[in-house]
Amino acid sequence: MAGCGAETQRIHAPIVDLMACCGHLNPSGLGEARAFSDLGSLGQSSVGFETLGEYAAADATGRAPYGGAEYGVVLSPEAEAVCTKFTHLHGGAGAIVCASGLAAIATVIDAFAPKAVLIPDGIYSPAWRYLSETGRAALLIYPAGASGAEVDALIREAGTRVAPAETMIYLEAPASGTFEIPDIAGIVAAAKRAGIRTVMDNTWASHVRFRPLDHGIGVAIQATTKYEGGYGDTPSGIVVARDEADIARLRRQVRISGTGAVSPQTCARLFHRVDSADTRLERHAATAAALMRWFEDKPFTADILNPARAASPYHARFRQYFGAGNSLFTVVFDESLPTERVHAFVDALLMFRVAESWGGHVSLVLPVHPRRDPAGLSKRSLPNGAMFRFNAGLEEADDLIADLEQASRATLA
Ligand SMILES: *Cc1c(COP(=O)(O)O)cnc(C)c1O
Repeated sequence: MAGCGAETQRIHAPIVDLMACCGHLNPSGLGEARAFSDLGSLGQSSVGFETLGEYAAADATGRAPYGGAEYGVVLSPEAEAVCTKFTHLHGGAGAIVCASGLAAIATVIDAFAPKAVLIPDGIYSPAWRYLSETGRAALLIYPAGASGAEVDALIREAGTRVAPAETMIYLEAPASGTFEIPDIAGIVAAAKRAGIRTVMDNTWASHVRFRPLDHGIGVAIQATTKYEGGYGDTPSGIVVARDEADIARLRRQVRISGTGAVSPQTCARLFHRVDSADTRLERHAATAAALMRWFEDKPFTADILNPARAASPYHARFRQYFGAGNSLFTVVFDESLPTERVHAFVDALLMFRVAESWGGHVSLVLPVHPRRDPAGLSKRSLPNGAMFRFNAGLEEADDLIADLEQASRATLA
């Protein structure tokens, strides 16, 4: 760390020896909930009322007179402020905030209770787990890089079994880990013709790169755990709906399920941090581009999966929808390399922590294990070599490249 640039040292301070930090990537103490406002919920369950009459009115509507809910576990005034902000950022009719990105996804599924859901084969795997293990709906799987016609054919197949009002088309683009991009406009047009609701997990892009509602999608989901919070300390998810009726259903679902229990501290962080998401994304994307250039001409690199690269088969759609990249890319290592050597390379990295999640200030690396067709429903063509997804953090690119150099000299030379 001593040889690193000032920016890198600032990102990692006060964890001086990053490799000595095992566990959470932020110093202990930063996660403690404290009072944010003197009004309403302080992140506590009970909300006090002067009189029984005041309480009865609040209980009937789910709202207390000072703002927020009558019961402090959900919808604190801080949460309401966050919802208002994201409603504007996405141009929707309203928003809900949930305890995690996955809770936001589950809330959307449960609120609309579809009998059939069309999902991409590259769907975020916990979302797959939720849909498949709860058995909420019949799942029809389309390729993550599908054309409008492919999804149209699947809509017709679904239509023989389930009414359009009970069908949902679920989009996630680019796909988790492998970054395929479907024909979003074609899918939305097909859904509109069939009268089917569309929802999109927009976590990769955030409102900075893509606003789903502007493209005719009914419901946008953001794991605000990622770029909106930006430092790995805002576990939360946002759902923004285009229509009043949809947002009413989502609010009702949050009250039923309690999935909207988000600490006021998390909401306060999110409220302010989201303002710098575009600046941070620029830097994440520039650093990721520099790291990809480093990997490009190395003999151990078989491919780099990232739609911002001109060589990507999804580059045209990337330019059409997103315009600029983010912190993520996946390196496919040459399949002739023994797996142990690739693992040794990853373990030899000093600046990239092995950790789940992404979009934060610290650079990360994680193996990618795309679902290889568990039900025999999709024909995915996937590379054979070991795949690792990198999250380019906010450290200086030169320091990260120096780290890749030392690790590759020690293990892959
Ligand atoms: C991380 C992530 C989520 C879930 O967010 P959590 O807050 O971790 O539950 C959902 N979708 C995508 C694409 C993600 O990357």
